[in-house]
Amino acid sequence: MKQEIPYKIYLEESEMPVSWYNMRADMKTKPAPLLNPGTLKPMTFEELSGVFCDELVAQELDEDTAFIEIPQEIRNFYKMYRPSPLVRAYCLEEKLQTPAKIYYKFEGNNTSGSHKLNSAIAQAYYAKKQGLKGVTTETGAGQWGTALSMACAYLGLDCKVYMVKVSYEQKPFRREVMRTYGASVTPSPSETTNVGRKILAEHPGTTGSLGCAISEAVEVATTNEGYRYVLGSVLNQVLLHQSVIGLESKIAMDKYGITPDIIIGCAGGGSNLGGLIAPFMGEKLRGEKDYRIIAVEPASCPSFTRGKFAYDFCDTGMICPLAKMYTLGSGFIPSPNHAGGLRFHGMSTVLSQLYHDGFMEAKAVEQTSVFEAAEMFARVEGILPAPESSHAIRAAIDEALKCKETGEEKTILFGLTGTGYFDMVAYEKFHNGEMNDHIPTDAELQVGFDGIPKFPGNEI
Ligand SMILES: *Cc1c(COP(=O)(O)O)cnc(C)c1O
Repeated sequence: MKQEIPYKIYLEESEMPVSWYNMRADMKTKPAPLLNPGTLKPMTFEELSGVFCDELVAQELDEDTAFIEIPQEIRNFYKMYRPSPLVRAYCLEEKLQTPAKIYYKFEGNNTSGSHKLNSAIAQAYYAKKQGLKGVTTETGAGQWGTALSMACAYLGLDCKVYMVKVSYEQKPFRREVMRTYGASVTPSPSETTNVGRKILAEHPGTTGSLGCAISEAVEVATTNEGYRYVLGSVLNQVLLHQSVIGLESKIAMDKYGITPDIIIGCAGGGSNLGGLIAPFMGEKLRGEKDYRIIAVEPASCPSFTRGKFAYDFCDTGMICPLAKMYTLGSGFIPSPNHAGGLRFHGMSTVLSQLYHDGFMEAKAVEQTSVFEAAEMFARVEGILPAPESSHAIRAAIDEALKCKETGEEKTILFGLTGTGYFDMVAYEKFHNGEMNDHIPTDAELQVGFDGIPKFPGNEI
């Protein structure tokens, strides 16, 4: 059924997914459970529900249900900006003179500018349904905070955002978008929490990190009546919600009989990649099909490629549960790389297990080569990509160039997670030749590894 492939493949409303897909249901080796750092026992529903909304805890702990229905209200919200287009990158193929066929799923087509809205609306919906007053969260580059602010405004929930200080200062416009949607935004570390004051005392002048902003947001959620904490990445529930990206991609590709050989996504905490690959990984796990799956991360924050697979804290303040994941240590503060969304020290436990079991590959790329790819992409495809997304572009271009050498007509699918309008300071540095590639030394990484908790069974 070879038809001419349109530039953009859209879905009819009636073709849109009605359920999210939970990859864990098809994993033979399930991701290790979150542990209570005090008792080292798996976190129970009761313990987690002090921090997260009940329904989200249920999703977090559910490793058996493959398909979880998307509530109608969330599907209605999705219709405002989904389906997102699946684009055949004809112009990029032409520019590269490659026989490869390149597709990208573009998630930047909403005001928050990234895929994060897919989970923000789901998490805000369950908080509202539980009768809560509001939610707290952290944001790195600002995309998650923006998405959550939009979702909370839509549902009439209060939203308190702790924003990594370096981004708060570098991205005043993101901050103001959040405030436009009614959120309160505090630079982290701040004097407003115990953990923030402690971090400031130990590291005066720190530019902050996602890990420390998480500690502050959790503290505020657990000490204020009617509030819960929400997280934009890493957690199983977030990967579940993001599966809408992969499900839509697969439905669109199936319509035209397209099968990707290689699937590529950038990986910060793993949510867009986990979402994009979900239905494809499902087939791979069930032994029905095989795909090459590549996670792309910054060389300055190389959790998969140079991290340890061990139980570690998700936050700098060490108050969150322990997660078994590829980690650089919760004390690792990456150099001020411009892809703020990829600066987390850890990785989704689902993706960590899949990587550990050989179901996917990972590659680290340097910042200047990422911006070269971003600029080429912007010039030929028109979309001005986020620095995070551009990691996937870099890897996709590299694979397409390999096809040029070998003459192979591979089909490449990559996730274009968002737009980069708020990242023009980074683009400016790149254009002025002031961008550098900081690759941490083994000794620098060791400092982070030394902070990984030690207990029987967690030797690194
Ligand atoms: C947050 C973000 C990422 C990285 O987060 P994941 O959870 O790994 O997907 C990538 N791209 C954009 C545009 C983001 O906002």
